Amino acid sequence: MKIVDVKCHVLLDPDYNIGATSSAQDDIVVEIITDEGLIGIGESDVNPWIARACIEAPGTHTMGRGITELLIGRDPLDVEAIWEELYVGTAMNGRRGAVIHAIGAVDMALHDLRGKALGKPCHQLLGGAVRDRVTPYASLQPDQSSFDSYKASLVEWALKAQGLGFVAAKLEVTLAGAYAHLGLNAEVERMAEVIEAVRGAVGPDMTLMVDAQYSFTDADSCLAAIREWEPYDVYFLETPLPSDDVEGYARLVAEQPIPIAQGEWLATRFEFEELLRRGAVSVVQPDIGRVGGLTEASRVVRAATDANVPVVPHIWKTGISIAAGIHLAATTESIPFLEFLPRDLSSSNLRRSLIVDDFTMDEGRLVVPSTPGLGIELDRDALERFATVVPNSA
Ligand SMILES: [Mg+2]
Repeated sequence: MKIVDVKCHVLLDPDYNIGATSSAQDDIVVEIITDEGLIGIGESDVNPWIARACIEAPGTHTMGRGITELLIGRDPLDVEAIWEELYVGTAMNGRRGAVIHAIGAVDMALHDLRGKALGKPCHQLLGGAVRDRVTPYASLQPDQSSFDSYKASLVEWALKAQGLGFVAAKLEVTLAGAYAHLGLNAEVERMAEVIEAVRGAVGPDMTLMVDAQYSFTDADSCLAAIREWEPYDVYFLETPLPSDDVEGYARLVAEQPIPIAQGEWLATRFEFEELLRRGAVSVVQPDIGRVGGLTEASRVVRAATDANVPVVPHIWKTGISIAAGIHLAATTESIPFLEFLPRDLSSSNLRRSLIVDDFTMDEGRLVVPSTPGLGIELDRDALERFATVVPNSA
C-alpha cells in the first residue's frame, strides 16, 4: 500500500470572533489517501493556513524537506518510522512549533489509516487498552464579558455539567491579561470569588480544575492569590504563568500545595522532558496534535509515567482530536482525566458538526470506541461549508 495524496482542509467558523479565547473556531484537517482508496483523518490545534503551508511547502535540500513529498509513495503502515523521517527531514523548517504541530495532524491521520488498514482500533495498535471507559472533564468557558455575568454563567454551566453526569469540570477563569475571554477585565484576586461560587453550588464531590490561561505576571503574585484557595479543593491550576517562565513554574510547584498543570502549547516530548527534569510541572497536558501526533503523545505519556506525573491531555478542537485522546487514554492508567465537551455544551460550530456521530457517555465515563482507526466519520457537508469561509481582512 502506498500514499498517493495528502489533502489539507483549512476550516473556519463563519461566526468566529477574534476577541474570543477559543482556538476551536478554525481547524486544519488532513486527509491521507492511499492507492487502495483508504483515507486517514487527522487535525491539529494550530493556525490552519500556517499548518497547510508547513505540509505543502516543497523542500529544497536534505535538511529542509517537504512533508507532502516525504509522504507520497510511502507505505503508510510504518507510522513511527515516518514520524522520524518527517522530524529529521524537516529539521531546518522548524524542529519545534508549527511544523511539529502540522506533523501532529499528519501522524494522527496515519494512525487512523493504519487502524483502518488492519481493521483494529488505534488503542490496540498503541499497545492495547487497559480499560474500556475513560473519564472526561467538562471545560467550561461561558461567552460573557462582565465579571458578574461570567461568574453566574460558570455556576450555571458547572451545574449543567454535573447534571449530565460529569464528575469533573475545569473553570476557565481568565480575568485579565492578553487572553482574557471576550474582553473580560477584573483583578486576578477575584478568581477566588468565582471558584468559591462554583464550589458552593456543585458541592464537595465534584473534581474542580482551574485554568488561568497565563493571567498572572509572575510567581509572587500567583502565590499570593492562590494561598486563599485551599478551602476550594482545586485539583490543579493550569497555566498560571507565561509559558517561558520555567523558573516561576518550578517555584509554584515547590512552594504551594495545588498541583500545577501545563504543556498545551508544547511541541515534542523533549519539551516535556525538560519541564519534568526542572520540576516545573505537576500534571502534563500535551495537546495530541500540537505535540506531534499520537506517536509523540504516547512518548510524553511514557516520560510522565516514569516521572510519576499524571497526564491530562488538552483537547479543544473537534471530535477528531477527542477520538485521538480517548484512544490514548484507553492505553494507560496515567491519564486520570481528559478534556471533553459534549456537543450541547460546546459553543464551537466546528466541534458540533465536523464529525457525524458524537461520543457515548455512560455514567460520567466515555466509552472507548472499538471500530477500526480513530472510529470517527467526517461530515463531508460540514467540511465543505467551513472550507469556503474567508476571514475578514479588516
Ligand atoms: Mg488551557
